Amino acid sequence: MLNYFDYQHPATLDEAVKLLTQPGAKAMAGGTDLIVSIRSGMQAPGTIVDIKGIKELKRMLREVLSGGEGEV
Ligand SMILES: Cc1cc2nc3c(=O)[nH]c(=O)nc-3n(C[C@H](O)[C@H](O)[C@H](O)COP(=O)(O)OP(=O)(O)OC[C@H]3O[C@@H](n4cnc5c(N)ncnc54)[C@H](O)[C@@H]3O)c2cc1C
Repeated sequence: MLNYFDYQHPATLDEAVKLLTQPGAKAMAGGTDLIVSIRSGMQAPGTIVDIKGIKELKRMLREVLSGGEGEV
């Protein structure tokens, strides 16, 4: 069973960084690892910051995958 947590879905990197500076906040990319560890009681974040919707990160990933100059 999952504990209660606040779920945030920022649209920008700045917003995500601000949210992630809060105590107990954890980034979630796909959730494969994080959700499993929350379910098993290994982690209990107060806030989950879902970074999937951040366009800047998608652009960086596209640049890296295409062999461009982007940094992750
Ligand atoms: C059933 C299962 C099978 C797996 N099989 C494999 C496998 O075969 N090979 C393999 O290599 N791995 C495997 N893994 C591990 C998993 O793929 C990795 O842990 C991967 O990082 C999960 O990606 P995610 O995007 O879902 O991460 P999430 O679950 O979203 O996050 C994982 C951790 O990274 C943190 N995090 C996420 N994004 C950021 C960020 N931008 N900055 C800082 N911290 C961040 C989260 O807070 C969390 O603590 C498996 C995991 C599970 C549960």
